[in-house]
Amino acid sequence: MTEKYADIIIDISHEALDKVFQYRVPFSLQEKIVPGSRVVIPFGRGNQEREGYVISLTDQPDYPPERIKEILEISPGAVTMETRMIELATFLKYRYGSSMYQALKTVMPVKRKIRTRTKRYLTLSLSEEEAGNLLEVWKKRHYRVRCALLENLIQAPDHTVCQEDGRDYSRLSRKELARLEDQGILKVRDRVQYRNPFSTFARKEDRVVLNEEQRAAAREFAGDYSAGIRKNYLLYGVTGSGKTEVYMELISQVLGLGKQVIVLIPEISLTFQTVRRFYERFGEQIAVIHSRMSLGEKSDSYVRIERGEANIVIGPRSALFAPVKDLGLIVMDEEHDGAYKSDSSPKYHARDVAVYLAGKCNASVVFGSATPSVETYTKALEGEYTLWVLKKRGGNAVLPRVTIVDLKGEFRSGNHSIFSGTLTEKIRERLERKEQIMLFLNRRGYAGFVSCRACGTVMKCPHCDVSLTYHRDGSLRCHYCGFSTLYSRKCPVCGLPHVAAFGLGTEKVEAALASAFPGARVLRMDMDTTRAKNAHRDILAAFSGGEADILLGTQMIVKGHDYPNVTLVGILAADLSLNAQDFRSGEKTFQLLCQAAGRAGRGDKQGEVIIQTYSPDHYAVVNAADQSYENFYEEEACYRRLMGYPPWCHILVILVQSGEENQAALAVQRIQRMIAQSQKEAENPVKILNPGKAALAKLKDTYRQVIYLKHRDEETLLDLKERLQPVLDTHPLFAGVNVQFDFDPVHNY
Ligand code: ADP
Ligand code: ZN
Repeated sequence: MTEKYADIIIDISHEALDKVFQYRVPFSLQEKIVPGSRVVIPFGRGNQEREGYVISLTDQPDYPPERIKEILEISPGAVTMETRMIELATFLKYRYGSSMYQALKTVMPVKRKIRTRTKRYLTLSLSEEEAGNLLEVWKKRHYRVRCALLENLIQAPDHTVCQEDGRDYSRLSRKELARLEDQGILKVRDRVQYRNPFSTFARKEDRVVLNEEQRAAAREFAGDYSAGIRKNYLLYGVTGSGKTEVYMELISQVLGLGKQVIVLIPEISLTFQTVRRFYERFGEQIAVIHSRMSLGEKSDSYVRIERGEANIVIGPRSALFAPVKDLGLIVMDEEHDGAYKSDSSPKYHARDVAVYLAGKCNASVVFGSATPSVETYTKALEGEYTLWVLKKRGGNAVLPRVTIVDLKGEFRSGNHSIFSGTLTEKIRERLERKEQIMLFLNRRGYAGFVSCRACGTVMKCPHCDVSLTYHRDGSLRCHYCGFSTLYSRKCPVCGLPHVAAFGLGTEKVEAALASAFPGARVLRMDMDTTRAKNAHRDILAAFSGGEADILLGTQMIVKGHDYPNVTLVGILAADLSLNAQDFRSGEKTFQLLCQAAGRAGRGDKQGEVIIQTYSPDHYAVVNAADQSYENFYEEEACYRRLMGYPPWCHILVILVQSGEENQAALAVQRIQRMIAQSQKEAENPVKILNPGKAALAKLKDTYRQVIYLKHRDEETLLDLKERLQPVLDTHPLFAGVNVQFDFDPVHNY
């Protein structure tokens, strides 16, 4: 038997993860100790017994073996939260390729405890009659402050007031209150006030009655669950078909069994209407986590989850790592959304992590989408997931009418404006009828670049390999690093005054709207107008409150909003994401168009959608117009199978970054040679695609090179990565080079 060594951390907190100690694993425990095991070790000079957690195992000690102490025993007791976190980190590290440290940082909640706030509540201990008598006595003695308090206590619901809410009696000291308490007049209670930005949503009692399709899903889930069956389900239903109602029903079932639930939504700030509906149903049982919360708010959410005071965690992908004790269900809404994929190492996909975590905790997963990812739908078709379909829209709403407008034809017939004849006419019609309009500009993979029309020079960011974007305030900005410079018509290369902005940005559309429809009230929502903390919420609330006729925005406007008065959705240029160099571009375009179209006609009025495009025949556009996911899936699946793209093949991206252009190139060549070497004997070798510069070749002064690897079997790629990793960690050629892995990428490089 070979010796084995365990890396152990003692203090499981975000701040101390880098303090790792190495111990020898006794032979008798070699079979039993795994990452996540809680063990007892002799620690420090005096060899005091301490508990620690094994984070990884190795047969290569970092120190002379004779200096390494031995683990004493495995700690008795149940599986702890820490064990689960370390197992999860081990999974992330292996599956997505990162250091253990990065993986642990990802799964560990930020532990910085922020002091909680309390509020003081006073409750009357006397009967109303007694209190009335006492009030008379105090009045005669002119106890003004005490009288104010007593009067309020008598009138308040439950005879309870919050001391801070009072104007006069808030001045009473703790000591004076204690005296009143001793005299049996009132009771004082200090209650922790959790910071909760959503607590203003009131609870509602009225429920919709589920329709037959919804009920069928709920019934099957209940049957499985009570039979002890835990599995994964896909709830596929068009926007507005009532998926959220189904989630809430399933959640009630699981809560009824005393278990906890994690609800994932792509981006909280964009889906606060969904959060509000959960609040209206489940109230204070909810803890929300999201990136724009203050540290105090976040810390309070964690505390409530840990204590089991909150049973439902709602948040973006990181909510998977919330300290939930008894997980029964994970709901993943809009499972196709790109935001579920992390773009820093470990570049995990919340979809896979949810399935893994649910497996570990004996929980079920419900994925939901109107346009399921090709991956998930394929699993459902193959029977790995149970498929539920909602065909009808809930309530009275009907699917919108969709028209495709060919922009090439518009141009030929002399209309050079942003709005086609059809769209202009429809907008005018809605404005007259006082109905609302959403205009959607798909900017993904697109930069409104600025160039010199005389010599062709494109204005680029000096730190990134991207063109700068023109803003109406007269600046040119880089959307990757924030670089900003003043716009000038004079070309820095040829000196002629012909520098101008091309293309279409939201600001430009806003200006065009103002001149085409003077008097129309327009709200713009994009990266620039939503920097402030609650900006998303405020803009959407203003629109929903009827403060504007037109909401103009990027993809952030198409997510999960329900505006009954919106009867027209215009998609200004459907193609802008089709041209991206990305095998998912057809899927992304289809999803965006469907989602955008789904915003029309959510109320009783018939909705209408106009899609302007240069590729009216592309299957993503045609099928989105027909709202036919099935036809889209068939064409997309055919294309991916043919080309060998996920899920029929797997892709591992290796991204190599360095401040030195040459060093990045050398490192990539070296990696390529190592891989080629390792595949020589293989019967079914890994394919190496396009090594070289990334599409975004320079970012924040760092040069980027990539290799794409492709293989049918996941394990083959992961195994290759495992064998590469030690070389990357130790070989001098890779010092000063940052190497990242991305398994089945979602975003482009
Ligand atoms: P999705 O999540 O699929 O977009 P929602 O759950 O948001 O759909 O439902 C859309 C609208 O239809 C909501 O206003 C919802 O209250 C309503 N709705 C859903 N199911 C029903 C039902 N069975 N009866 C009446 N209204 C329903
Ligand atoms: Zn830049």
